[in-house]
Amino acid sequence: LDNLLSVTEAKTRLVSAMQPVGIVEVPLSQAFERVLARPVISSLDQPPFDNSSMDGYAVRAADLAGAAPDRPAALRVVADIPAGVFPAVTLASGQAARIMTGAALPPGADAVVPVEQTDQYAPAARGFGAANPDSPAAPLDWVRVFQPVPAGAYIRGVGMDLRAGTAVLAPGRRLAPQDIALLASIGAARVSVFRAPAVAILSTGSELTPPDQELLPGRIYDSNSTMLQAMCLKFGARVVSLESARDDPQDIQNYLDRAVAAGAEMIVSSAGVSVGVYDYMKAVVERHGSLAFWRVNIRPGKPIAFGSYLGVPFIGLPGNPVSAFVCGEVFLRPALAALAGESDADRPRLPVTTLEPIESDGRESYLRAISTFQFGAWTARLAGHQGSGNIYALARANSLLIVPSGVKSLPAGSLLDAWLLT
Ligand code: AMP
Ligand code: MG
Repeated sequence: LDNLLSVTEAKTRLVSAMQPVGIVEVPLSQAFERVLARPVISSLDQPPFDNSSMDGYAVRAADLAGAAPDRPAALRVVADIPAGVFPAVTLASGQAARIMTGAALPPGADAVVPVEQTDQYAPAARGFGAANPDSPAAPLDWVRVFQPVPAGAYIRGVGMDLRAGTAVLAPGRRLAPQDIALLASIGAARVSVFRAPAVAILSTGSELTPPDQELLPGRIYDSNSTMLQAMCLKFGARVVSLESARDDPQDIQNYLDRAVAAGAEMIVSSAGVSVGVYDYMKAVVERHGSLAFWRVNIRPGKPIAFGSYLGVPFIGLPGNPVSAFVCGEVFLRPALAALAGESDADRPRLPVTTLEPIESDGRESYLRAISTFQFGAWTARLAGHQGSGNIYALARANSLLIVPSGVKSLPAGSLLDAWLLT
């Protein structure tokens, strides 16, 4: 094991070789799942003004100090404040203003009484839920309130959520729907994001047949091309070239050259990086680039090539489909995240208890498993044969159990980290 690079070390070397590919400004409608490139600082308080969190009456709390169901406080209604209008009145003692949710609190008011706590609340009689949009009822001149409210009640105070000047989102964050809402709420109509890296995918192998063609004897369908395409899309990249080459040096070089011409900012290949006599990938890359060939302490996987071709970063993944998938998760994901400027792309880990004994060979192993949450904890059993060509077992798995380096067997009931494959 000692001449194998640790998974962590390989990942660190890979990621540190990646430079984010550049910045563009996009409108918010195109910002979902893009990676923020510059900090966003709010120029607004949020909420931007004191406003009501209820439909009711803006009041001065002191006026209601003695209110009770049998001794309601009567207040003169001096204004009606719908949402969207800044009130023109200032409340004096003994006065109230009808106010709607989200409407600005009038000066002088220091609390809101929900309409339910007043004599203006008569849902059945007033047909609540079927308001007439053409003639909203005018407020009566007086409102009677049946209980006191503390000062500040039902007011969403200016700046309660955030203050102007706050750095609300940091660069490197992949924008989620709630982030987009935050940006919209502070009027950040355009944001700077990293360009999605352009990736070229190249599968090699003379046995490969596209899934829409007849399968000749000795051939197999190419499953890595479309899998890697899906993974690249999932990891936020653009796929600019998707091809497969025969095990032929000139064929491979032609594809590499076309990938570069297509503007690829990373080339991802599968297969042909092992020690077979038809494994030409390494030699061809080295014609116009350089290659570090790492034997990594990972199972499935182990041989992974990394370097550059005509200046474009190159990652050579193993050909076995499960190995390609696992190495895609372990290496391609963080590499693309780094190219895309994303700061934290690691999957969260769950603690999982194994329901069966587990064998490994001492390499850091990623076992295909079905994990379930029951009785307050995650448990896992293996999803069929663990061979690195078994795509069916991979597709049935919902998780990868991570067996640490140096561990060769574990009894049932062992605790392991797992990635949920969501
Ligand atoms: P290699 O790395 O070329 O020795 O390939 C290892 C194994 O993965 C062989 O069984 C190949 O047939 C298989 N393989 C390679 N490329 C693909 C692919 N694109 N789709 C499915 N299987 C593949
Ligand atoms: Mg091959």
